[in-house]
Amino acid sequence: MQVLFLGSGTSYGVPMIGCGCAVCGSSDPRNKRTRASILVRAQGQTLLVDATPELRQQALRERLNHLDAILITHAHADHLFGLDDVRAFSHLRKEALPLYADAAALRIIRKNFDYAINDTAFALGWGVPRLTLHEIGASARVGEVEVIAVPIFHGPWTILGFRIGGFAYLTDCNGVPDSSLPLLKNVDTLVMGALRHESHPTHFTVAEALEMIEKIAPRRAYLTHISHQLDHQATEAALPERVRLAYDGLTLDLDDPLPSSLIVETTASGRATLEGFAVPARP
Ligand SMILES: [Zn+2]
Ligand SMILES: [Zn+2]
Ligand SMILES: [Zn+2]
Repeated sequence: MQVLFLGSGTSYGVPMIGCGCAVCGSSDPRNKRTRASILVRAQGQTLLVDATPELRQQALRERLNHLDAILITHAHADHLFGLDDVRAFSHLRKEALPLYADAAALRIIRKNFDYAINDTAFALGWGVPRLTLHEIGASARVGEVEVIAVPIFHGPWTILGFRIGGFAYLTDCNGVPDSSLPLLKNVDTLVMGALRHESHPTHFTVAEALEMIEKIAPRRAYLTHISHQLDHQATEAALPERVRLAYDGLTLDLDDPLPSSLIVETTASGRATLEGFAVPARP
């Protein structure tokens, strides 16, 4: 299993339009952050998590030519408004791309991308992204890959993080409900949003993210959705060894996820749990 950071920046991107700060003017390529998104490759499947306004540049930079599914964490513009660009992928695979999101995000997607999703547009075929929309519920299966939806707080909204095997991705986040903690049990590699040092109504600060990472206790963690207030080198130097800052183009190699039969147990309430799941010891 492999995770590629397509983008690691907050909604403004870094550099930010009109800003003359040291980070925005920095020559360190790790301080150039497109909007937050990852690509997950697991068990022969390629999953895009969020479709940022920079999806086209991200795809060209990483020479992407295939997607099997799209996962959307929430319907804010910085996570969604590159969705039209997936039309190149849906044409290449010559069939519609499945998109998974929660009910709230699907409502906004249907409204904003009506031209692509209503029957008439779909019948036109090649001029629009060809998508099939699926409400994710507790989990979704893409080929053999089990994707577990992890509800998280993002200011006044409850949005989704995703867990795949020993990996979890919690971008825009300023709280994890207690009910989601069991879904993150024994996670090996955790990606957590951390905007800046000053507090923010809808995002964790670096200190708050570290506190939550401590609570979830993964083997290692990466911070993402980073603003221009954080210089890569200076910020990372002050982090604990097992927590690093993500940057555009960073690739993580993970062990193949355990068979989903070992991971997912659906409770009477329909919520997946991870009882009995254990990540094998790593060297
Ligand atoms: Zn965002
Ligand atoms: Zn700046
Ligand atoms: Zn957001």
